[in-house]
Amino acid sequence: MELINYIDFLLPRFCLHCNIKLNADEKYLCKRCSDSLRRIEKPQLNLSRIRSLSDCRTLFLFEKEMPVQSLIHNLKYNGNFRIGIYLGKLLGKEYKNVFLNEWNIEVIVPVPLYHTKKAERGYNQSYFIAKGINKITDIKITGAIKRNRYTQSQTDLTLTERILNVQGAFEKKRYKKLDGKKILLVDDVITTGSTVNECATVLLEAGAAKIFAASVAIAV
Ligand SMILES: [Zn+2]
Repeated sequence: MELINYIDFLLPRFCLHCNIKLNADEKYLCKRCSDSLRRIEKPQLNLSRIRSLSDCRTLFLFEKEMPVQSLIHNLKYNGNFRIGIYLGKLLGKEYKNVFLNEWNIEVIVPVPLYHTKKAERGYNQSYFIAKGINKITDIKITGAIKRNRYTQSQTDLTLTERILNVQGAFEKKRYKKLDGKKILLVDDVITTGSTVNECATVLLEAGAAKIFAASVAIAV
């Protein structure tokens, strides 16, 4: 018996969405659930409204009750930060050329969590997505900004409420040098873009040259 099959036999893994037993070559989702993920490359963000952001890439359309939600939920709430590395690697493989040769990204900045939230969850999921991108592209990661207050989840807010909710919620860490840098902001799910826009504004004010964003999913 091959080693991988043997491990699979001893420690069976299950699809995060439908709970079926995974084959040795499947990761987190079974083939059926994985095939149902809806790919999106360029999210239809209104970049004229999100002025601080030069461009954006994503992998999947966020759909409630679907495998993409199970992936994100397990990444955020079940302590499964390795999913973040896995998804970050997918992003890295898909957009390596864009990040390195089109956007000339010099540093990756994960969207930060407020410190009490991070303590609660134990980790920032966006950091692990960034880590996955770093493994593929070698672009270094810096925690250049912090969230300076608690912000409620953007999920149930209207567009205007979302903008107000994150306004002034981020600040640059004093000792980080960003002058002239082209930065890739990384988040798990981008919804209206208010959060990445707010982060981008802070980074631009701190002297960065251009800000781009990448996320695992986009909710429209
Ligand atoms: Zn499944």
